[in-house]
Amino acid sequence: MSASLTDPFGRHISYLRVSVTDRCDFRCVYCMAENMNFLPRQDLLTLEELDRVCSAFITRGVKKIRLTGGEPLVRKGIMTLVESLSRHLQSGALEELTLTTNGSQLQKYVKDLVRHGVKRINVSVDTLDPDKFKAITRWGDLAKVQDGIKAAQDAGLAIKINAVALKGVNDAEIPAMIRWAHGQQMDLTLIETMPLGDIDGDRTDQYLPLSQVRASLLDQFTFADIPYKTGGPARYVAVKETGGRLGFITPLTHNFCESCNRVRLTCTGTLYMCLGQEDAADLRAPLRASEGDELLQQAISEAISRKPKGHDFIIDRAHNKPAVARHMSVTGG
Ligand code: SAM
Repeated sequence: MSASLTDPFGRHISYLRVSVTDRCDFRCVYCMAENMNFLPRQDLLTLEELDRVCSAFITRGVKKIRLTGGEPLVRKGIMTLVESLSRHLQSGALEELTLTTNGSQLQKYVKDLVRHGVKRINVSVDTLDPDKFKAITRWGDLAKVQDGIKAAQDAGLAIKINAVALKGVNDAEIPAMIRWAHGQQMDLTLIETMPLGDIDGDRTDQYLPLSQVRASLLDQFTFADIPYKTGGPARYVAVKETGGRLGFITPLTHNFCESCNRVRLTCTGTLYMCLGQEDAADLRAPLRASEGDELLQQAISEAISRKPKGHDFIIDRAHNKPAVARHMSVTGG
């Protein structure tokens, strides 16, 4: 079976995000509770199985794969998967293999990533203040992340910084983060907090609409809308004062579902057709049921035929429960 993947709304699925582990060495306050119950290790797909599912998607026209998590670089043996997937870059079937990371392990892996054909990565940094960084991530060390970023740049990787906009936490710092990222030739993308999974606090307190942030940034910066696209949901502007690019991911203030080209695979082989809906398809059973990929391909086709039109995220005082129970670390950010 090699027909490409088109959903009931005519959207072509060309982008697979793979959460290779739900574990993480940080505990960001908006993402996880401090004490998390992680998936039992025996439920995880092996690295070979992850490769098989990714390859099945590539056969069906997926051109971009992003490894994420949890923290993708804490999955044991992760470079084996990166190396095996790189054969699809070499053949030209896959256009981009990339990852989203918190940067804590970058120094260790950056050379291998480059060797296996990774060209760009996203690194999540919500603040440049070391104490605040510790408070947001609970367990993280900003200096280590900055060393990782430097190592990645020295090795020639292009970097995009992702920052979640958090009310009363990093909002005053956003102009400085724009100058910092652009000063080092990195794009910066701001993300709205999404109501995914129970956390220790209340999301209504953290939620900061990016429409508001954008308006307040206009006091200091001049923005020009640009058509730049990376295959993801961010909309970009060029910032005249810095010469850099600033992205906005606005699932709440401006829903981007109409152009959604993505599906998400968890480390246990569950496929989520939408980040913000509960419906999912199990790919692990068909994967393990036979050595050939026929059952797996059927399950993928069936899943894509159920991709929903969009999500229904709302955060306000009347809706302060998560839209979906699973954390971002399960589905993969
Ligand atoms: N550990 C990696 C990292 O830190 O980038 C990859 C996984 S993390 C879940 C991916 C991205 O999702 C990060 O940029 C993180 O800040 C973001 N994220 C996590 N929970 C979120 C939420 N509830 N709303 C918005 N973004 C969230």
